[in-house]
Amino acid sequence: MHRDLERILFSESEILAGIDRLSVEVSEVYSGVEFTVVAILKGSCIFVADLVRRLPNPLEMAFVAARSYGDHTTSGELDIDLLPAESELSGRRLLLVDDILDTGRTLFHVRTALLDRGATEVRTCVFLDKPARRVIDIEADFRVFEVEDQFVVGYGLDHAGRYRNLPFVGILRPELIEGDQEAGR
Ligand code: 5GP
Ligand code: MG
Repeated sequence: MHRDLERILFSESEILAGIDRLSVEVSEVYSGVEFTVVAILKGSCIFVADLVRRLPNPLEMAFVAARSYGDHTTSGELDIDLLPAESELSGRRLLLVDDILDTGRTLFHVRTALLDRGATEVRTCVFLDKPARRVIDIEADFRVFEVEDQFVVGYGLDHAGRYRNLPFVGILRPELIEGDQEAGR
């Protein structure tokens, strides 16, 4: 275990088994349907790479970047960079993928922006779901695990830019998340 972590929540093998289960669900829903997987950077980069490699369906990939400014463990104002051209979105069915659904602001606003640019359908898929913190009424169509109201890192999820490369998910020692003012997620 990493020395900055208090404990591990999901091991690498638990995560991969969870994604195996999820990919069966996703591939059934999109069976015979053309679609584009849109990953929200940076947090979902590891998850989306493991997910798409388990989907046998023909698919395209696109990326958007979302960054929220708040303190290091809660989200505040949202800044969205829509990287795909309108021609990549218009008339397409999209599967929007994020690392964690927390207050719901990121998924809600990115979904709205994609629909505004002509997507015909946007389904949502998250690695983690933290329902206790929801502010906007939005649920993911697909999710791997539910978590309690705790700040987690690893498997794409960062704290101040670090820990994304950990192959497992854990809880950071509380003394490491005090006294922060601003974070990009
Ligand atoms: P929302 O917009 O739903 O409040 O927040 C979504 C974003 O907040 C996620 O994409 C993620 O970057 C960040 N976030 C929310 N909860 C956590 C957490 O427990 N750990 C980390 N590392 N990031 C989180
Ligand atoms: Mg993020």
